[in-house]
Amino acid sequence: VAALGLLLALGSVSAAETNASVPVDEGIRARIVDGRTIVLEVLPEPGEGYLAMARRLCGDPDLAHALEAANASRGLFVGRPALVPWDLLRSEYRYLSLLALFPEDEFARGAWHHRPGQSPVPVVGEGLWQVAEWYTGRGENWVHIARANGIAGPDLPPGRSVHVPAELLLPLFRPPVLGPERLLRYDRDEQGPFAEYRLRRGEALYSAVVLRFTGVLAPDDEGMREMVEIIAERSGIGDVRRIPTGHAVKIPLELLSLPFLPHNHPRKVLAQVRQSEMRALSLPRRPSTFDGVHVILDSGHGGIDVGARLNGVWESDYTYDVACRIRRLLEREPGATVHMVMRDLDHGYRVFESRQLPLNRREVVNTDPPHANKNRRDVKVGVNLRWYFANDRFEQLVGNRKASPEKVIFVSLHADSLHQSLRGAMVYVPGSGYRAGNHAVGGSAYRRYREYSRAPVSFTRSQRLRDEALSTKLAERILDGFRDQDLHVHLNMPVRDHIVKRVHRHRRPSRYVPAVLRANAVPAKVLVELVNLNNREDAHVMADPAGRERMAKAIVAGLRDYLAAP
Ligand SMILES: [Zn+2]
Repeated sequence: VAALGLLLALGSVSAAETNASVPVDEGIRARIVDGRTIVLEVLPEPGEGYLAMARRLCGDPDLAHALEAANASRGLFVGRPALVPWDLLRSEYRYLSLLALFPEDEFARGAWHHRPGQSPVPVVGEGLWQVAEWYTGRGENWVHIARANGIAGPDLPPGRSVHVPAELLLPLFRPPVLGPERLLRYDRDEQGPFAEYRLRRGEALYSAVVLRFTGVLAPDDEGMREMVEIIAERSGIGDVRRIPTGHAVKIPLELLSLPFLPHNHPRKVLAQVRQSEMRALSLPRRPSTFDGVHVILDSGHGGIDVGARLNGVWESDYTYDVACRIRRLLEREPGATVHMVMRDLDHGYRVFESRQLPLNRREVVNTDPPHANKNRRDVKVGVNLRWYFANDRFEQLVGNRKASPEKVIFVSLHADSLHQSLRGAMVYVPGSGYRAGNHAVGGSAYRRYREYSRAPVSFTRSQRLRDEALSTKLAERILDGFRDQDLHVHLNMPVRDHIVKRVHRHRRPSRYVPAVLRANAVPAKVLVELVNLNNREDAHVMADPAGRERMAKAIVAGLRDYLAAP
């Protein structure tokens, strides 16, 4: 009945009100109907039915029938928003809708301050019942809110601000206090919310704060310097080399990486929704041997682009040598096929048993015709040709039924250039939140390659979630392989679903997935940073042919375990 009333109400909204909705998440907008009823408008994904939608928006597939009833007269069509009534919404989306609809609301002085008069959409029929329902989860709580605000009845004059005492609030509206392991304390001042960290003896802003809490890694990166500057300025630190022990360092929340964000930060809440969706996914059964498995193997540099060059070793030739070793190991596995993204025009796939590799600028991308990196423009084209190559092979294998999608795996090999104190392997996976939109690139530089395709390259939300779930499993198995080979693994978040870079003062840092994963159609795909070349011991392992062989074995073992896992 409630759903029917809602539809009638929607039928009566005027054209002006139709625009009165605010974005909540990708493809999701919140609207207030009749001045006081919150409803979500959600664009269905291709192939998404009520069951999948109930799981995504309601957190409960059992609500599929109720959702269907609410959309009975509209049906479910791609490109046309479906309605999810408030009663059916999962708590995370209720919370995010309220934040979006009432952007001036905030927690202060022991209560949640609700300011409907400052909403971008018209709020006219709201009473204390709605306020109690939205922020405490129980409409009956309106009497307590009335008492706290000195209001006699349940009615509210339009636009009247009220506060909801902390003890009544749902957990997501309560202010966070302490971060994980009590390392951080959350607070706010006139400049907004922040996380506070107290420096211990001998700790530096760069390593103890930026490296640990922001997810930025590269020491010489401009973004890193900007982060240090922003945090120093926010904390009243004049000289970053002379910070007294115990000084309170204030980190703006938008700089924090996911594990350190407070429980109710929108980025954390959205990530938790995605996590719960990934847990609910029924992942395809994977083959348990290499038989019929296709590995698309990339080494991330080549030609004039040698990549990072530190401590006597460099990325292009050394990662290519590891790729050739992986190829050699996999070719001993019955039924395995390796598709090399790069090829050395001089030496083919020859493995070198020396510490000093010849500096080679003759690796090409294995496209038709082959693509050589002869200048900076070529390098950029080469980066995109890698995923065009992968997508072309994937399409040929899966489209022609030579392999099922779960039998194709993509691995790209790189080596980091991080702070010299950091060691070990790290794996990037395609974070589902960073792959929306169309990734196609084009132009005359691409058209001459057979692998290039004009078709738009984009992925549905469920494809992206599946990719992230599969790739994360693959990444974890590969890192287990490194540990089993006594190779180092990065201590701080060795599996990452995005890169953080460049801050541009007073703006958010950019967070992205590298193109070779972002636009890649292969479901299970990882980018492995084999070592940190700026660390002397790591570079030493990379120079050693036996070290490179252990890396190759680690990756093959990781692939094997991934394929065998249920
Ligand atoms: Zn690289």
